[in-house]
Amino acid sequence: MKLYAPSTIREIKEKYGFKLSKSLGQNFLTDKNIIDKIIDATEITDEDLIIEIGPGIGVLTAEACQKAKRVVAVEIDRNLIPILEDTLSEYNNVEIINQDVLKTDLNEIIEKSGCRRAKVIGNLPYYITTPIIMALLEGGIHADSITIMMQKEVADRIKSNPGTKTYGALSVAVQYYCTVRNVAVVPKEVFFPAPKVDSAVLRLDLRDEKPVELDDEKMFFRCIKAGFGQRRKTLSNSLIGLGDVTKEEVKSCLEAAGIDEKRRAETLNLDEFAAIANYFSKLGK
Ligand code: SAM
Repeated sequence: MKLYAPSTIREIKEKYGFKLSKSLGQNFLTDKNIIDKIIDATEITDEDLIIEIGPGIGVLTAEACQKAKRVVAVEIDRNLIPILEDTLSEYNNVEIINQDVLKTDLNEIIEKSGCRRAKVIGNLPYYITTPIIMALLEGGIHADSITIMMQKEVADRIKSNPGTKTYGALSVAVQYYCTVRNVAVVPKEVFFPAPKVDSAVLRLDLRDEKPVELDDEKMFFRCIKAGFGQRRKTLSNSLIGLGDVTKEEVKSCLEAAGIDEKRRAETLNLDEFAAIANYFSKLGK
């Protein structure tokens, strides 16, 4: 059975009385070529634990099961569980967890499996793309890589460089935790039903060593938030948004870091954000 064929999705809908949920971001992949690209980019070996976010009817899951040691897929929609049990019935190395991925302790799953680290895959539900990515990264997911499909616009923001329109808090945060690789740009027509926008697949490789040295990670993220929270303001104004710093402290911070106070957050690279954050950390902020 070609799981990814639109005719299969129609048959499954009929057989189970399943209704696709728009609010759960259910746009299923129907292109084998794109499925292969995601699986190939993940470089799955027979030693790997794969964690999949949102398996849908299991198009990626089935391919991962053929290559990995073990696959754990987290799906929020309980109506998809009997369908997945059916579509994946030939594999004995898969576990489906019926839960909201944002409320699931993925590191506990990884530890329990006896694997040191996992590889994460998914065609993400678009209504919570950014929260999922940030939860994985901030939660310190024990993974080597995260190969995921998302709206193209979000992928563009993630890989942006300083000085571009799309560069923002998400770019800095993801690039702090990961190196970012393009896998594919995906036209909206290959989904059932087609979403309104095109998509892209990125592979994020978790860094062994962070690219900047920080005295306090929290302060780094506070500076990013303050800077981009008021992205049209100059740094001398936007950093006041930190709340517990004075205008004079901001001025001396920027002077010490050699950063012109008229610059905006969108022009700062990771090193410059780190210099600002470390200055305030040393002040005890
Ligand atoms: N992987 C399938 C594919 O490529 O055809 C389905 C992808 S579809 C874009 C997103 C999937 O994520 C849906 O199956 C949806 O029910 C599931 N989902 C939505 N919100 C979720 C959440 N908070 N936790 C886990 N799964 C979720």
